[in-house]
Amino acid sequence: MEKLFIGVDIGGTNVASGLVDEEGNLLQRDKRPILADVSQKTSLRQIVDGIRAVAEKEGISLKEIDGIGIGSPGPLDPFQGVAFSPVNLPTWGTVPLKRIMEEELSVPVTVDNDANVVAVGERWKGAGREVDDFLCVTLGTGIGGGAICGGRLLHGFNGNAVEIGHITVDFNGPRCGCGNYGCLELYASANAMARRTRQRIEREKPESLLTEVEQITSRTVFEAAQRGDKFALEMFQETGFFLGVGLVTAINLLNVEMVALTGGLANAGDLIFEPVRRTILERGFPGVKEKVRVIPTELGEDAALLGSAKIAIDGGVFI
Ligand SMILES: [Zn+2]
Repeated sequence: MEKLFIGVDIGGTNVASGLVDEEGNLLQRDKRPILADVSQKTSLRQIVDGIRAVAEKEGISLKEIDGIGIGSPGPLDPFQGVAFSPVNLPTWGTVPLKRIMEEELSVPVTVDNDANVVAVGERWKGAGREVDDFLCVTLGTGIGGGAICGGRLLHGFNGNAVEIGHITVDFNGPRCGCGNYGCLELYASANAMARRTRQRIEREKPESLLTEVEQITSRTVFEAAQRGDKFALEMFQETGFFLGVGLVTAINLLNVEMVALTGGLANAGDLIFEPVRRTILERGFPGVKEKVRVIPTELGEDAALLGSAKIAIDGGVFI
């Protein structure tokens, strides 16, 4: 009989679950609020209910599920399956996700970080399916990354490899929440672009459609850029340049063949990809920079469901 798995994508607002077969077909889905601001217990209940719901929709019991893969915001230990006070899940503290879910559901559970599961999903069924050396970068509130090297997901000794949002792009830069200074995500995340736009408008008072400073988000900058607003276009050029600088470091370290970008800012298309690609060509390592492809991801929200299920299919981080 065909084996079935459930992939789970835990976010700060919602938890999504998907029933996935070994070929990577998404057979059923569920999405519900995670309610992490209410309590840890409530949000764990929402995760369990979502998992049960996808099995029910298929008319099967959890006994027929061969494994559950969970993608969770970090920091976490994928070897033990423990999450440590994720910023977006304020009531969580330290949560032994693997143990709790296995006790509750009696199904083997694997846990990995949200950026890693997206990378695995895109490499399995999306943008990276042709390549063995693949970097996937998520441009959201912060910047996350996952890398496949020689066909294997890179974890590092305790599961924190490819924290690309926290590589230094300016050693004299501002302090980051991680303790380092001038981290990439302070310059090139969606939040960072919105913040820098607000600061420059207040300081330089440029001619721009963006006048309501308090209302500025990466989306309003995008909308202004689409209408040809020169200042908004400049903000995208600048953000793409910063991101390109960070990616050059990552590419020089990992020698990946492809970089796929996902998350809010990646949806801005050429506005972000053009300055990123140009910066890589200007600054990358000879023999590499001309060959590395920088493209958008293909699977959207499904990447995390497929990737977390794929990690469960492969038996987790120990394989
Ligand atoms: Zn940092």
